[in-house]
Amino acid sequence: MPYVHDTLARLQKSSPAQTEFYQATEEVLESIRPLLDSDKRYREASIIERIVEPERQIFFRVTWLDDQGKIQVNKGFRVQFNSAIGPYKGGLRFHPSVNAGIIKFLGFEQIFKNSLTGLAIGGGKGGSDFNPKGRSDNEIMRFCQAFMSELYRHIGDTMDVPAGDIGVGGREIGYMFGQYKRLTGSYEGVLTGKGLNWGGSLVRTEATGYGAVYFAENMLKSRSDSLDGKTCLVSGAGNVAIYTIEKLYQMGALPVTCSDSQGTIYHADGIDLERLKDLKEVRRTSLEEYLKTHPQARYIPVADYPKDGHAVWRFEAQAAFPSATQNELTAADAKAMLANGVICVSEGANMPSTAEAVDLFLAAKIAYGPGKAANAGGVATSQLEMAQNASMTRWNFEEVDSRLQGIMQGIFERSHETAKEFDQPTNLVLGANIAGFRKVADAMIQQGAV
Ligand code: NAP
Repeated sequence: MPYVHDTLARLQKSSPAQTEFYQATEEVLESIRPLLDSDKRYREASIIERIVEPERQIFFRVTWLDDQGKIQVNKGFRVQFNSAIGPYKGGLRFHPSVNAGIIKFLGFEQIFKNSLTGLAIGGGKGGSDFNPKGRSDNEIMRFCQAFMSELYRHIGDTMDVPAGDIGVGGREIGYMFGQYKRLTGSYEGVLTGKGLNWGGSLVRTEATGYGAVYFAENMLKSRSDSLDGKTCLVSGAGNVAIYTIEKLYQMGALPVTCSDSQGTIYHADGIDLERLKDLKEVRRTSLEEYLKTHPQARYIPVADYPKDGHAVWRFEAQAAFPSATQNELTAADAKAMLANGVICVSEGANMPSTAEAVDLFLAAKIAYGPGKAANAGGVATSQLEMAQNASMTRWNFEEVDSRLQGIMQGIFERSHETAKEFDQPTNLVLGANIAGFRKVADAMIQQGAV
């Protein structure tokens, strides 16, 4: 279809060198072709041309003092992508790989993810190329304060509500919230993922990981199957991975792997969750230390990974939960997983599978849940945090968890029903993209040329 092709070609010219952003836009635009063919309104209203262009991009300098008194400089980003159905909402990522293209890919995905939740939230994303690794608590605080000293002008509880992502957890949200309050004098729900004693919601910490497992269970249930008794591969060792592993145990499954940026742990008896939490949430150290208490486990350093992929995907299992970062699962990994018996993949991370890997999963017709559907539990629970802040109420753990389960079921059903409507019942990429897109696009048409 020249319309989609032309839009993508124009985008590559106007936004040069943003590979991940092209990957994300191509995946969405290609998969919504059947909708564009059947409903000409979207073309008439130039929706595609508009939806790939952020409403606003804010790039700024972040200047802060390290512990030696030296001035450090980083880049700060906030991309306010689409506000057709609600205030911008999406996390902040602090990682040295962050650049404009990465933030735009994440912000673009966020539009459809947020729409799919059924809640009234628009799409945005932000972050910095700041590397928190090896930084003291005081340096993290000074960086977060400097970052917020610019960002505060652009956010607000009905305008743009950031949250965490890679490198941004409860500690960083706390420092940024403190600085926002100091600068504005206003105590408002401007960030989500706040501490439980100052406006945070129960289950927010667990929500993305738990949600990815609930999504997998919904996919399997529709195939008269379940996670109970299944061996599972999990990548990552951060917020999403840890709570995926926790929920997998609660569902009767056996998670046998996790990974960080240095290597992979394989533990056939099952990952020791308390040990993992201690290593990563408390001591913030390398996974290699896991071997000190579990010498029978295996540690595979990055240098020993297969040339064409990632060690974490090369073990026998029935389900997989990519939960670290983008493009961490290649076509070679996908082939190995299918050969090793994987029948379910639920993406906790954003765009963890390469386009070729996704094609293999779709062709094999396994239960494949793309990130924008499977990991939407985090942002959905952020919205529940906003709702509690706005109404000055506080729900208990069971109440938030049961709402999260309902939301994940709703996301699955919306994606599945839409996939069936377009005669591709097992293709949840198409289902999630069309369902997410249609709601935003219809709102854009109704709101006119803005
Ligand atoms: P996190 O707590 O910072 O953990 C990230 C984990 O992935 C860490 O174990 C990290 O290793 C590893 N990692 C990061 N970049 C890597 C790279 N380039 N190569 C290899 N490993 C890498 O972050 P998170 O919140 O769990 O986020 C993980 C993924 O989930 C991201 O794709 C994020 O966008 C997505 N997500 C998160 C949320 C949320 O609520 N947090 C919601 C939706 C989607 P080290 O320990 O060595 O740093």
